[in-house]
Amino acid sequence: MEFDIELVKALQVLDSRGNPTVEVLVITEAGGFGRAIAPAGASRGKEEAVDLRDGGSDYGGMGVRKAVESVNKYIAPAITGMSTYHYRAIDRKMIEVDGTPNKSKLGGNATTATSLAVIKAASDTAGIPLFEFLGGRRARYLPVPMMNVLNGGVHAGNGLSIQEFMIVPYGADTFTEALKMAVEVYKALKNYLKETYGPASINVGDEGGFAPPLSKTQDALTALEKAIELSGYDVEGEIGIALDAAATQFYDDSRKKYFIDGEWLTPEELLEHYEELLNAHRIVSFEDPFGEAHPEMFGALKDKAHETLIIGDDITVTKASLIEKHFLQGYIDGAIIKVNQIGTFTEAEEAIDLLMMRGGKAIISHRSGETEDTTIAHIAVGCSAPFIKGGAPARGERTAKYNELLRIEDYLGGDAIYVGEKAFSR
Ligand code: PGA
Ligand code: ZN
Repeated sequence: MEFDIELVKALQVLDSRGNPTVEVLVITEAGGFGRAIAPAGASRGKEEAVDLRDGGSDYGGMGVRKAVESVNKYIAPAITGMSTYHYRAIDRKMIEVDGTPNKSKLGGNATTATSLAVIKAASDTAGIPLFEFLGGRRARYLPVPMMNVLNGGVHAGNGLSIQEFMIVPYGADTFTEALKMAVEVYKALKNYLKETYGPASINVGDEGGFAPPLSKTQDALTALEKAIELSGYDVEGEIGIALDAAATQFYDDSRKKYFIDGEWLTPEELLEHYEELLNAHRIVSFEDPFGEAHPEMFGALKDKAHETLIIGDDITVTKASLIEKHFLQGYIDGAIIKVNQIGTFTEAEEAIDLLMMRGGKAIISHRSGETEDTTIAHIAVGCSAPFIKGGAPARGERTAKYNELLRIEDYLGGDAIYVGEKAFSR
């Protein structure tokens, strides 16, 4: 009884881009409290859950009053009295009430915030941290962060086609040490960019990474390598470089070509271009190298790039069925997990478990539009995920996730294990 929901209530709040988003509060009969906020993406896959937005003139049409109403009017009456301990039944109930393949009736923003608030209320009722509620005593592995320190694509106003240039501090003994290494590289990158390209180059993009006025992939990679070297670290064995091309964003469907590094390239030409880049630079992980139109090209790149994890995001959208399909075809080594791509924690958990069982990599991820909500830190540890994407070690909504991981590591004390280079083992 004590885990049963007594109150569900939604509110319109703001995300890190100043856009409205949905916050949900869930209170259980025992007084357990859970509050969660839905994030929002900018480079979204076609098959993602749909956020309900108001249109009209307020907030440029981005208001979420309809989604707030979804929670208060439809979700709350359907799930009040249900047990948060059995959160999967609550998520199934929302899926049933919604009745669409992409949460377009209730809104993916409404179901995401509710689903996350429910698991938080359950853990609070149980009197244990969320990661422990999800993973029990086995949940003690701190994920390797993939930190987006140089922004391009739709997250920045520069000429870089590739959206995210990340550093991956895997060669550390603890998460705390890994974070320190990453901050040192971030600061060195700032100095290098300022000296090389001038003070305007250290303005930051949506995820806290610098957005220098570069247009060549090569120059961005050189900047990262320089920063790692200037900080006294090694790209072989300590800090890796990872990319998220988010290639759908620079694909033109009518030309059937990708625009990158000043040229329009066919998928085959882009593959060759990537091969050259991967030969010249050590890249540990490469997400969405091609758009949703070319899943088979992921496989072609995977065949050539044995040292690099090939990861799906827009082509997998946290759907267990799509992840399984692309994984079994040999197109991807793993997938990005974003609860709001699918709309409930239960479905995201299914995608994570599927990857784990098949031997693939689950990368728990934030969105470019984030908030102070730190649930993804708990999901990563609770599900023993090898990696987490949380942006640069700057901007409050990004550091909030890293700070929560510091707290979790501190709480676990001697039980904590940093996944480190084992994150890459296949
Ligand atoms: P988004 O991008 O949150 O803007 O969709 C993140 C990503 O592509 O990984
Ligand atoms: Zn992505």
